[in-house]
Amino acid sequence: MRPAASDSSAPTRRDLRARQQTAEAARRAERTRDVRTRDARTRDARTRSAAVATRVPLNQRPRQRGGLGVVHRGIARQVLSVGVLVAVFALVVSVSVPASVFGTPSANAATSGAPLVGSAADTQSFQVSAEAAADDTTRDAYGATSRAQFAAAAAAAAAKKAQASASRYSSTWNPGIGPVRWPYPVMPKLGPGFGAPATCSTCMSVHQGQDYLAHEGTPMYSIATGVVTKKQQDSYGWGNHLVITSTVNGQTVSFLYAHTQTGSIAVNVGDTVQVGQFIALTGSTGSVTAPHLHLELQLNGTKVNPHTWLQANVTG
Ligand SMILES: [Zn+2]
Repeated sequence: MRPAASDSSAPTRRDLRARQQTAEAARRAERTRDVRTRDARTRDARTRSAAVATRVPLNQRPRQRGGLGVVHRGIARQVLSVGVLVAVFALVVSVSVPASVFGTPSANAATSGAPLVGSAADTQSFQVSAEAAADDTTRDAYGATSRAQFAAAAAAAAAKKAQASASRYSSTWNPGIGPVRWPYPVMPKLGPGFGAPATCSTCMSVHQGQDYLAHEGTPMYSIATGVVTKKQQDSYGWGNHLVITSTVNGQTVSFLYAHTQTGSIAVNVGDTVQVGQFIALTGSTGSVTAPHLHLELQLNGTKVNPHTWLQANVTG
């Protein structure tokens, strides 16, 4: 039966060698103690204590304690060296690399002093017209996938645009389908009416007709079937105008259409014109401040309010 090494009372060759080494270390420590600086004495003290510890009989102390301590101190020195290297590397990086390399956009803006979002004074203004925005909305709303759908969407968009363009006209307008009809299929806004104060400084009397504020170039149509009795181009007064004489309910009724666009009158004196037939384009010839139709109506030779007469006689 082999006794355990720690229980052996007889020193082994290995024990003897260890004792010799520790004794030698102690003697070296004694020789160098007096010439060491005070800072080095702490380390010497550790060395001495280690040497003293080695004098304790081996069977009364843990084996290889000194060896493990040396290993631990070696690891500590290595860790310290690595730590120093890391610290130096961090220092070099911190002073040589721009902070923006590691920073987030906001941090970058804060450190550079150049804001990512410019101030109101620096930004350029870009205005989109309401019409353009409306067009985009319309296009997106349809989501056409075929040519037919695209055409339908385009037609719907065009109708919507036309409706918006006609917003200045009445939406409850019926031009009529009978023998007497309104001169416009879509009712324009009304201007000065019959009997209103004179609209020009040279006018000697009150307004003799009804003004319909249609756009320049808007087609106008014959109110009733009749014969063209006058067609004249003037640069003053009624401007380019025509008169169509009809018989309505047994009464002779003449209609004067004034301020028509130059060259747009599509009929000639003596022509028979059907109700609803195109006769001219709305213009601004003569004494006007804006394009419009000045309509006068004579009933058996007497001027009457054309608007109220139309309201009473247009059917359908
Ligand atoms: Zn007028």
